[in-house]
Amino acid sequence: MFTNKLLARLRDATTVTVLTGAGISAESGVPTFRGKDGLWQNHKVEELATIAAFQKNPQLFWQFYSWRRKALRDVKPNLGHYALVDFERYFKDYLLVTQNVDNLHILAGSTKIVELHGNILRDRCTKCNAITVTAADPDSQIPTCKKCGALVRPDVVLFGENLNEILLRKAQHAASECEVFFSIGTSGVVEPAASLPFLSKANGAFLVEINEEETPFSVHSNEMLRGPAGKILPQLAMVIEKIQSR
Ligand code: NAD
Ligand code: ZN
Repeated sequence: MFTNKLLARLRDATTVTVLTGAGISAESGVPTFRGKDGLWQNHKVEELATIAAFQKNPQLFWQFYSWRRKALRDVKPNLGHYALVDFERYFKDYLLVTQNVDNLHILAGSTKIVELHGNILRDRCTKCNAITVTAADPDSQIPTCKKCGALVRPDVVLFGENLNEILLRKAQHAASECEVFFSIGTSGVVEPAASLPFLSKANGAFLVEINEEETPFSVHSNEMLRGPAGKILPQLAMVIEKIQSR
């Protein structure tokens, strides 16, 4: 299933960077944006998760995020998330860059992680920037900051907003320095995350894609692993464990 070329790279690699997207959480039951579930009460998700939607109709915006949070309450990491925790042991310089906001990598136990788009379980004040781990149940009213009274919002990067500069630089650095780069369960259309695989390739990395479908990265990949991440990653982890212990 895995080529000898990939196995040789993984046996020798010390610097590995992984980028994950919504696809890795699909097997945990978290809907992706671009699949068949990309609608919420007939609103397009991509139109709701925007800074403009928050400003225009905070009530509707919060109903949507409240629904997303509730949907996450009983969700658990899957074998793909757990396999990536093991990657921390296999590679000395390892970084997991995720576009997901669902907290599942952290719940699985990943510690070397950059949450490029934030974390939906946290709130941030629109005025004083105070961060709180969410307790708000904004179904009935829009939550406000306990410190200053201003509106709070989920601590995620919305469409139309810039990413945290420091986190982005950390991700770009890891992409440009790594020997092997994995792009897992991401459709490669949301920038600037979508440029990371190309940045790694331009700097000499071996590019591996794990996805059920074709993406803009596929033709540039050195190895294309087609199938569910929750099945492929545990198999890969087992093989890495074996070849590294030889
Ligand atoms: P996307 O929805 O655009 O694409 C998902 C990709 O995953 C597709 O290419 C699909 O073919 C692939 N996929 C689906 N199931 C898979 C599986 N079991 N194994 C492997 N691949 C699978 O997701 P994206 O590229 O992450 O971009 C969406 C944006 O929306 C991101 O910015 C992200 O922050 C956000 N988002 C996050 C979550 C989450 O936190 N779980 C969920 C939806 C969207
Ligand atoms: Zn405040």
